[in-house]
Amino acid sequence: MKSLGVYLHIPFCIKKCNYCDFCSFPDRSGERMYEYTKELIRRMRVFAAEHSDYRVDTVYFGGGTPTLLPSECFGAIMSALYECFEVTDGAEISVECNPATIDREGLASLRAIGINRLSIGLQSANENELKALGRLHSFEDFCRCYSDAREAGFDNISVDLMYGIPEQTLESFENTLRRVAELSPEHISAYGLKIEDGTVFGRIRESLILPDEDEEAEMYLLCKSVLREHGYSRYEISNFSREGRESRHNLRYWRLDDNIGFGVAAHSLIDGERFGNSRDIDAFLRGEDIVEERSSVSAEERVREYVMLGLRLEHGISADEYRAISGREMQEDMPKMRGFIDSGFLLEKNGRICFSDKGFFVSNAILSELLY
Ligand code: SF4
Repeated sequence: MKSLGVYLHIPFCIKKCNYCDFCSFPDRSGERMYEYTKELIRRMRVFAAEHSDYRVDTVYFGGGTPTLLPSECFGAIMSALYECFEVTDGAEISVECNPATIDREGLASLRAIGINRLSIGLQSANENELKALGRLHSFEDFCRCYSDAREAGFDNISVDLMYGIPEQTLESFENTLRRVAELSPEHISAYGLKIEDGTVFGRIRESLILPDEDEEAEMYLLCKSVLREHGYSRYEISNFSREGRESRHNLRYWRLDDNIGFGVAAHSLIDGERFGNSRDIDAFLRGEDIVEERSSVSAEERVREYVMLGLRLEHGISADEYRAISGREMQEDMPKMRGFIDSGFLLEKNGRICFSDKGFFVSNAILSELLY
C-alpha cells in the first residue's frame, strides 16, 4: 500500500488577523461548520472509494482556526477518516490551535478522539506585537492553553512564531524565543512576516514601521542560535525541533510525497498529479467540483521541485537522489553549484548540498541561477 498524508482545511475564524491571506471566513454561530463537516466527509468518502491502495500516515487539520470546530464535528471527521482509510498505528494527527478559541475540556476532547499533535499559533510573547498583528489572544492565554494541552496528555506540541513584525526589535524577539523555548515544546516554527495584498497590512503598507532586511536577517540568526542553545535542531529553513519531533506531515510536502487536501483552498499531489481547490465555500457546500488547477507534474518539474524543496531541508539534496530522479548528474546540470559552494552560499556536508545561513537570505536568486 502507498503512503498518504491527509490535509483538512477548516476555513473559519472569529476575525481576520491583520496579516492573514489564508482562506478563512468569519463564523461565530457555528452553523456553517456542521454543513462544512458533512460535505468534507462526503468528499473524503468519494476519494477513499477510488483510492483504496493508500494507507494514511499523517493527518493535518489546518485553517482558518480548526479549534473553532465543535467537538462533535471533529469526532465525526475522525470516525469517517478511520472508516474510509487504513490509518497506520502511530500516525501523526495534528490540529492547528488558536489559544483564544479552546479551553481545557476542548483540548481533552481532541486528545480523547486521537489527535496527538498540536500546533499552537502564538506568533509573539509581546502584547504590543500581538495587538499589531490583530491576534485575539494574549501571551497569558497562550501559556494557559499550553499547560492545559500538557495536562490533556499532548506530548507533541509545536509553537508558531513570527519575526519581522511591526514594532518588533531584536530584544523583543529574543524575549519571545526564550520564553517559548523555556516551556520546551517539541517543535517551533518561525516565519518571517510577509505583507500580502488584500490584507489589512497590505492596505496600510506604507505606514507600517517594520524591521529592515538586515534586522530581519539578524532576527533569523538569533532564532537559530537561541533555539540551538535550548536543544532544538533546524531541520528546515523555518522549522526547529527536538530530535525525532520533526513535523512528519510537512516533511511529506517537502519530499513530494502523496498528499490529499480536503476542503476549500486545499492542495493535493496524487500519483504525479497536482490539483488545488478554489476558495469558493458556497460551491463547496453545494457539492460542486471546486478543483481549479490541475496539472501533471512533468519529469522535469519533479527534478526542479526536488532541488527547490530539498535545499530548504537541513540535510539538503544529494547527487545520488538527483541521479535517481533525473537520470543525470547534478553538477553537470547545475554547473554554477560549485561556485556557490566555494563562496559559502551553499554547504557541502557528507555528500549532500544545502543552503548556508547567508545563502538562505538570497535563496531565490541562487535557485534561479541554478535552475534557469
Ligand atoms: S487565526 Fe490564522 S487563519 Fe485565522 S485570520 Fe488569523 S492568521 Fe488567518
